[in-house]
Amino acid sequence: MDFLIATHNMKKRAELERILSPLGVSVKTADEVGIDLTDVEETGTSFEENARLKAESGCRESGMPCIADDSGLMVDALDGAPGVYSARFAGDHGNDKKNNDKLLECLKGVKAQDRTAKYVACVCCVFPDGREFTVRGECHGLIGFEEKGENGFGYDPLFYIGGRAFAEFSPEEKDKISHRGNALREFAKKLPEYLEK
Ligand code: IMP
Repeated sequence: MDFLIATHNMKKRAELERILSPLGVSVKTADEVGIDLTDVEETGTSFEENARLKAESGCRESGMPCIADDSGLMVDALDGAPGVYSARFAGDHGNDKKNNDKLLECLKGVKAQDRTAKYVACVCCVFPDGREFTVRGECHGLIGFEEKGENGFGYDPLFYIGGRAFAEFSPEEKDKISHRGNALREFAKKLPEYLEK
């Protein structure tokens, strides 16, 4: 069964494909099905709301079941910021370097034990008949004092688990414990109920 995914991010597409293809789910981007999706404004105040806004819009515009995700980083010492603003924390959308510099600046003087943080990912699926469901995954770590590693994206060079930055993990190692991996495994558990009907 073909599902539209409301993302242009090829790394997210690859993550979705790795986890969903064993269920017989084939994921397609808007480009791959030859349609132009409206860029949805992420006006929600939670990851759940933003994922739903994107999945509803993608489903409405394509007539296909649509999967969308919304994710970000929540830092305890910053009262959960950057949260839903993770991609645009430093102003420009998706400027990872600036976002990481700003994060280090905001945490200046904060001790190692107080630099706890979590990544959160919500994945929503909306069907043309109006059914929908949303799942959430989390991954807990610490914000380091310097950027390390070359893999991943976003805040991965600063997000540490067990003394290593996420950007030092292989994609497969990251999938096993990441917020998106956890959300997608929940998603894979729930989806079969919806495919039977
Ligand atoms: P969105 O889910 O595409 O709206 O992006 C959320 C933002 O959160 C990204 O631009 C990254 O800054 C951050 N983010 C979400 N997931 C990850 C991850 O797995 N690694 C690093 N940063 C992430």
